[in-house]
Amino acid sequence: MSIEVRGVTKTFGDFVALDNVSVSLPRGQLTALLGPSGGGKSTLLRIIAGLDTADSGSIEIEGVDATRLPAQKRNVGFVFQHYAVFKHLTVARNVAFGLEIRKRSKREVAERVDELLSLVHLSQFAHRLPAQLSGGQRQRMALARALAVEPSVLLLDEPFGALDAKVRKELRDWLRRLHDEVHVTTVFVTHDQEEAMEVADEIVVINDGRIEQVGTPDQLYDEPANDFVMGFLGEVTTLGTVKIRPHDIAVSPTPGLAGAIRGTVDRMLRVGFEVRLNVHTDQGQDVTVRVTRAQARSLGLVEGSEVWLTPAPVGLHAVLVSSMAGATPVPPTP
Ligand code: ADP
Ligand code: MG
Repeated sequence: MSIEVRGVTKTFGDFVALDNVSVSLPRGQLTALLGPSGGGKSTLLRIIAGLDTADSGSIEIEGVDATRLPAQKRNVGFVFQHYAVFKHLTVARNVAFGLEIRKRSKREVAERVDELLSLVHLSQFAHRLPAQLSGGQRQRMALARALAVEPSVLLLDEPFGALDAKVRKELRDWLRRLHDEVHVTTVFVTHDQEEAMEVADEIVVINDGRIEQVGTPDQLYDEPANDFVMGFLGEVTTLGTVKIRPHDIAVSPTPGLAGAIRGTVDRMLRVGFEVRLNVHTDQGQDVTVRVTRAQARSLGLVEGSEVWLTPAPVGLHAVLVSSMAGATPVPPTP
């Protein structure tokens, strides 16, 4: 393990920001700390970094008990949402800074800065000032700077939070590729479930100072430990007594399966390649259902259509729909 957090509790006055949190983060992995605002993500990251201390519990980094080590001795690099850059220094000098204060030779510094700027695709901007970079470029510079001193752990607190949606998306793909090249153990804080799902090897869901679940993006999405995780990682609707994802509901134009719930499509909304249906059931429930446009077309769905809904076990949905559309009928497996 690269980072072991054991029984960490942190209070601010009467307020419990972290409540006996324990988690192990394997070496070389990209982990997302995901959760709603105020859940304790930044507090945990700051305690791992040594920028704040826990009331109780311990932090081990690369096998060394770091609980009482000052931040400078933990060999961690950080990037925050608003990075404190040296405005009067060029991009290259900003990246060189950590190496210069460690008294590395001029030649070593120059080589390492070249290498890092090429890694973050900023070589052609080496001589600009930070103010002459876009927001996305500035965060890439911040990453190069954090990586300069070869940290054993890289900690990122909502590093793309202040950027617009398109740039965020580019940077998240880019961070994934960078991580695949560099393999430094990375902990990435975000409140954005899509960002966490796309970037992370493993996600730690934190809410109200506690860990709700730890798992791969697929595990969290397909086997959420509780209603909170299910709701936070994707859309949820209620069909009868079952909480279910809207795309895990099979829609049939005929009663078909036992237990199917009858309803009427009272709204259809196209969202990209999907169609989002609001189905009002005979039991008086409003159920959200998502189907592909092709499915909606083959079922001939319009507002006012009568439909029967059943929970489709993961992966069965497409089978049911295609059998209804007249393809080879496949009996649903129990
Ligand atoms: P997150 O990063 O998940 O949004 P934080 O870790 O920043 O959450 O904060 C968790 C809770 O602790 C919040 O309710 C916040 O107001 C509180 N908190 C954080 N830092 C302090 C502080 N220095 N003093 C008092 N309360 C704080
Ligand atoms: Mg935060």
